[in-house]
Amino acid sequence: MAETSTQSGGRPSLPMQGVPQPTRDEVLNLPRVHISSHPVMAHKMTALRDKNTAPPEFYRLVKEIGALLAYEATANLALEDQPIETPMGPMMGRRLAGGIGVTPILRAGLGLAEAFREVIPDIQVWHLGLRRDEDTLQAMEYYNQLPHKVDLQVAYAIDPMLATGGSAIDAINILKRRAIPRISYVCIIAAPYGLLKLSQTHPDIDIYVAALDESLNDKGYILPGLGDAGDRQFGTF
Ligand code: URA
Repeated sequence: MAETSTQSGGRPSLPMQGVPQPTRDEVLNLPRVHISSHPVMAHKMTALRDKNTAPPEFYRLVKEIGALLAYEATANLALEDQPIETPMGPMMGRRLAGGIGVTPILRAGLGLAEAFREVIPDIQVWHLGLRRDEDTLQAMEYYNQLPHKVDLQVAYAIDPMLATGGSAIDAINILKRRAIPRISYVCIIAAPYGLLKLSQTHPDIDIYVAALDESLNDKGYILPGLGDAGDRQFGTF
């Protein structure tokens, strides 16, 4: 067996090295996991993944893909009656019942948050800073702008890449401490490992995914993936 690489302090620098991972097929039919099969999504995903796609175009694609995901993830929201007058007379319209929150995990979740705002402009955006320790892959909270008073019908935790699942699980734990009736998770690319972890840890949430990839490399990056989603959105290479 290959020797595990370590940094000073004895911590692993290749945290996924030798860690068993489920296959794609093993996680394809998990309950409450929704993987997009829309051809427009597949088309946009190819452009997003391409290493020659520069940050401005990448960010634009994140927003377009995010809008498609927002559309799918909001398909079962509750409505309530709203009487209105059209120019032709009265009618009973319908509006979303209760507020909607999105929690972008900083910083890579910011593009997806913009997409959700374009689909539902009066959404509440609760920023959450979770940085993953590159050696241990543990998520650490460094910023939290979640309000104390919460009156929502649903909150979406959003992050483009579901890799090991650490940040996703932590974000859902944080949201569950607020009295939110429904919580969902939305990402662009999921690795089977993180998807299984998240689904097993939080079986009571819906998970929306644009594409399910093959595996994680030894450092915890998704293969074939798209590289670092934060760097590619914000040009910090
Ligand atoms: N975060 C990223 O930005 N990319 C990956 O492949 C995994 C985690």
